Amino acid sequence: MLTLISIIFGALVGSFLNVCIFRLPKEESIIWPGSHCPYCKKSIKFYDNIPLISYLLLWGKCRHCKKPISFQYPLVEGITGLSSLWLFMRFGPSLSYIIYFAFVAALIVITVIDLYHQIILDIISLPGIGVGLLTSFLNPRITFLDSLIGVLLGGGSLFLVATLYQWLFKREGMGGGDVKLLAMIGAFLGWKAVILTILLSSLIGSVIGIIIMVLKGKNFRYAIPFGPFLSLGAVIALFYGQDLIQWYLGLRA
Ligand SMILES: [Zn+2]
Repeated sequence: MLTLISIIFGALVGSFLNVCIFRLPKEESIIWPGSHCPYCKKSIKFYDNIPLISYLLLWGKCRHCKKPISFQYPLVEGITGLSSLWLFMRFGPSLSYIIYFAFVAALIVITVIDLYHQIILDIISLPGIGVGLLTSFLNPRITFLDSLIGVLLGGGSLFLVATLYQWLFKREGMGGGDVKLLAMIGAFLGWKAVILTILLSSLIGSVIGIIIMVLKGKNFRYAIPFGPFLSLGAVIALFYGQDLIQWYLGLRA
């Protein structure tokens, strides 16, 4: 029963995340006005706004003008619902679950906005650093010191790489947004997870980068946003960090 509630709760939050994803980059209010169709501007009634279910019942089309509803809506609702379920099964009904769910929800918004606009908004990452530091007092899985070192290491190391890259190649490779995002990841997960996140995201980013270059030709120069890889690396570090570190130490022993 509680697992079912955790999925429904996650999907409802996902519905709100969709609003944030569309409105935050345009600096619009995320509270007012209510949801409306981007084509015919008709407001969407609550019964047409039920996560996942309404999309299926309406066959992915607006009730009034029959224009397609973006697939992003059910996708984000589904991913957020599953994230909630996964975290709930891992951490149970606890403060850790609430804190990590807020963290993953922020990563989902950051990732989708970064994919659309190649930007990581300060309005999410900077308060995120503060929330991560403050909730370290409430989360038994992390100490404040661990969180603080995480912020400094996360922010500092990427800043160093970004500066070095700019100095070597005379162009900006990694945005300041990535630096603040990694500081936020450090605030929530601690400094060990920062190192793991950098390793994982570079690895995943390189593999995807090579695949894109092979598919599109090596002259293809689209700046691949790094935020989604950092987010993915952080989620893997959150779920499997302990196991990965154990496994690595076991290999060395
Ligand atoms: Zn419409």
